[in-house]
Amino acid sequence: MGKHTEAKCRICRREGVKLFLRGDRCYSPKCALSRRPRLPGQHGRFRRRMSLYAIRLREKQKLKRIYGLREEQFRRYVEWAKAFKGVTGEALLKFLERRLDNVVYRAGFAVSRAQARQLVSHGHFLVNGRVTNIPSYLVEEGDIVEVRLQSKQKLGPVIREIADRRPVPSWLTRDLEGLRVQVNAEPNLEEVEHAVDTSLIVEYYSR
Ligand code: SF4
Repeated sequence: MGKHTEAKCRICRREGVKLFLRGDRCYSPKCALSRRPRLPGQHGRFRRRMSLYAIRLREKQKLKRIYGLREEQFRRYVEWAKAFKGVTGEALLKFLERRLDNVVYRAGFAVSRAQARQLVSHGHFLVNGRVTNIPSYLVEEGDIVEVRLQSKQKLGPVIREIADRRPVPSWLTRDLEGLRVQVNAEPNLEEVEHAVDTSLIVEYYSR
């Protein structure tokens, strides 16, 4: 299985925007993009003019990396979104937002999506009372995602401390005491923090 091993801050510098891959550090003055807002590498000061293909490619890479996906996984979401009624780009974002690891992150139970994914795959979360260790699991309206009882004692204080500083989007209702979150609507795209032009991504895959 392919794994992306490039340093996270380097990825942001390549894309030229904050992708929020390192949790609290991203909101602090230590953010590498704030300190060195240029391309990584020796010739990083010079950003070449990009072709239309390159612009679409970069937009696709940006979204793929925000959610920490491999190409095959990302392409699958694009195919599902295309088969969906309505605007393909919006459907794509909604699929990505409904991933279990993203919901754990959005609920403030992890500092980053990477950490959320690790917590999920280590079996620390239940969906509707059942242990679910598949980060790509797509939640539905009405689902309840909860920290597993055995994990509450060990991870509870840390998770509450992280969650205390993080706002929750309106489509989720969080119970911090019980360490659970209910999905009460479909994802609200106005609350998606990253500015990605999904139409460019759809165009990239329509070549
Ligand atoms: Fe990107 Fe800054 Fe976070 Fe590093 S610290 S991952 S550059 S947003």
